[in-house]
Amino acid sequence: MKKAVYVLLIAVVLLGAAAAAVYNTAAGQDALFKRAATALMSRSPDQFDGLRVVVCGSASPLGNDPSRAQACIAVVTPQHFFLFDVGARSPLRIAQARLPMARLNGVFITHFHSDHIAGLADVNLASWVQGRPAELHVYGPAGVRQVVDGFNHAYQLDRGYRTAHHGADLLPPERGTMRAQPFKAGEVVWQDELMTVTSFAVEHPPIDPAVGYRVDYRGRSVVISGDTNAADTLFTAAEGADLLLHDALSRTLLDPMIASATAAGVPVLPAIMTDVIDYHADATVLPQRAVDAGIKQLAFYHMVPVPANALAARMFLRNIPDSVIVVSDLHTFDLPPDSAEIHIHEP
Ligand SMILES: [Zn+2]
Ligand SMILES: [Zn+2]
Repeated sequence: MKKAVYVLLIAVVLLGAAAAAVYNTAAGQDALFKRAATALMSRSPDQFDGLRVVVCGSASPLGNDPSRAQACIAVVTPQHFFLFDVGARSPLRIAQARLPMARLNGVFITHFHSDHIAGLADVNLASWVQGRPAELHVYGPAGVRQVVDGFNHAYQLDRGYRTAHHGADLLPPERGTMRAQPFKAGEVVWQDELMTVTSFAVEHPPIDPAVGYRVDYRGRSVVISGDTNAADTLFTAAEGADLLLHDALSRTLLDPMIASATAAGVPVLPAIMTDVIDYHADATVLPQRAVDAGIKQLAFYHMVPVPANALAARMFLRNIPDSVIVVSDLHTFDLPPDSAEIHIHEP
């Protein structure tokens, strides 16, 4: 018995010494790094045969929480990859989720607040240098041309540097730009034999136009609100949808924040926080509206404000049914075709 313990101890010491030798020598480090790089480069993105929805940004409009990127939802199928809004830091989440940038089909923008468009240039660059076969199509209501032209102009030098460095065969300049695709709210914006993307007007006054989108794919559907009050137009368009991702504002949290900022004499902020109340949906009214519209699953994705801790999270969910999901970045919803199932993967 004693002998067995000694043998085990010696084995542990020898193993530790061997590991230290590998970790602390150039040859050992090179071997470990080569193994890790091979695994990383040969790993293909996770495939799912259905409608996959990935939250690539769930922050509040003016939030600086480093764990949340600004507004972004990815919709991925074996045949399609679309992004709906690309706020700041969302390109990081897109990379973390290993979304298939080389086959990015387009970006749909709900409106042109900065927290919905700030990542456009990074998404355009990342998909171009990973082999996107054409210009990046950016769909949006009136105003999209101005935004896209502005980004194209601002990044013209950058694109030139990259083509000069890597060559036009590798990075053809004609694929490096974005192309605006304007539409009117209410129109079907994109369609093929498997997928339909329909727009609808929302209420985000004074921002006009502002739209949301419904995506239908092989008997499944997801609706993305963008920024809006609880709007009849949205709930009509979302009738019977499987999943609704909606922005949500909490008076339970916002009212005391406004009162505290006012009492402390903080400039500007109390007025800004008061102004947002009438252009984001009150979280407490959404669950019943979703039930009335026959929506199977409601999730909050653009929270005003994002709860800063567990106490605030409990307050945000006061009077909200347990079935409602408050998403985090990288929350993933898998909707198998022609089914009623939703498989939810928490990050
Ligand atoms: Zn927003
Ligand atoms: Zn907005």
